Amino acid sequence: MPRIYARAEHAISRSLVSENALKVLYRLKKAGYEAYLVGGCVRDLLLGREPKDFDVVTDAHPEQIRAVFRNCRLIGRRFRLAHVHFGQDIIEVATFRALQSDQPHGERVLENGRILRDNVYGTIEEDAFRRDFSVNALYYNISDFSVVDYVGGMDDHKAARLRLIGDPEQRYREDPVRMLRAVRFAVKLGFTIHPDSAAPIPKLAGLLHEIPPARLFDEVIKLLLSGYAVQTFEQLRHYGLFGALFPETERCLAREPDGFPLTFLAKSLEQTDRRLADDKPVAPYFLFAALLWEPVRARARRLIESGHQSALAYQDAGNEIITRQLRLIALPKSIGLPVREVWSLQPRFEMTQGGRPFRLLGHPRFRAAYDFLLLRAETGEADPELAAWWTRFQVASEAEQRAMVRTGNRSPARTRTRKRRTRKRSAPNAPAS
Ligand code: ATP
Ligand code: MG
Repeated sequence: MPRIYARAEHAISRSLVSENALKVLYRLKKAGYEAYLVGGCVRDLLLGREPKDFDVVTDAHPEQIRAVFRNCRLIGRRFRLAHVHFGQDIIEVATFRALQSDQPHGERVLENGRILRDNVYGTIEEDAFRRDFSVNALYYNISDFSVVDYVGGMDDHKAARLRLIGDPEQRYREDPVRMLRAVRFAVKLGFTIHPDSAAPIPKLAGLLHEIPPARLFDEVIKLLLSGYAVQTFEQLRHYGLFGALFPETERCLAREPDGFPLTFLAKSLEQTDRRLADDKPVAPYFLFAALLWEPVRARARRLIESGHQSALAYQDAGNEIITRQLRLIALPKSIGLPVREVWSLQPRFEMTQGGRPFRLLGHPRFRAAYDFLLLRAETGEADPELAAWWTRFQVASEAEQRAMVRTGNRSPARTRTRKRRTRKRSAPNAPAS
């Protein structure tokens, strides 16, 4: 039996629920169905936070949902969902889902025409138990504004605790992505992971390798662009999950525990968080370039030692590292290409004489590569005077630029600059156009 929290016993305010979500809930109710908000939105509403989106569940089957709404489309194959459209805004409406729904939709066990078992749709109770964390399995009932709790989610919510429903190890084995979700929610909500739910993670982290790379990419993007990338990174490392996602980077970090690779990564994540807090755009490719830079550098160094020319060494190293990373995380081309460009442009910054600096300046990826150089210089891996040379070079007059590339000298005293012009740099990891 569920524990029901009446309207007066919880803090959910309808003023934080989107108008469209309310419309959907009320319309379903009017048509005689049960209708609830569920998942992340209930969890966030209980914290008084504005949810990012609203998920509705009901006992109405997809065809029945469609009959209630004109502006409705059914999507999905294995499990059909309804999308109710309000202009740009879409409210997702799902039918209660049974525990094991690996059969094609609509497949039922029939006897004398009577439904014995519906493999896809279930009861609200079944729907609750198939969810991941107890705080994600709370239902806000539109018929009386109560919260329905089958799994002790309300207690966990009050204790700011993430607890997997059921046996943690089994639930992680069923879907290893839940380990990443644990970290993402813990950081985002400021919750702790219940010790029983935390304990199996290091042992099972390697199961992430069984997840399709495209799904891992989606999850990693959510982790990195959560606005809490720094903390997320620390937690992922703590649980051995970072090493499962970025094994080569983890190996480099483990080798140099306090060195600049760690500072460099932390700084790039910090910058991302800051930009997100300021509502500025961030380019995921810049982050991936930073995350994999250390292995690229290590590999390039080895290639150079064995006689490769530096520009080629970085190009080859970049290709190698990214090819290996792609087996785990499917970076789309729109990320993989600029990542490689940012890397392969790094050795070209070293050449400050002749026509080369002008060509580099004209490269479409110059901006991002330069920002990357600044980050390297800030953390002591690249020469700060070199970075400063490039900062001056960009704002210098043509005559000054010609003087700069004649000597290529990095020390600012030698190249006389006119009155310092302050041109606003576009922020570090803004997408280079
Ligand atoms: P967010 O704020 O990031 O959207 P969310 O909790 O809404 O958080 P979603 O990925 O949108 O997360 O999923 C919606 C709900 O579906 C979850 O709250 C949870 O109940 C259920 N769910 C999602 N992914 C899983 C999973 N891998 N295993 C079990 N249940 C899941
Ligand atoms: Mg959600």
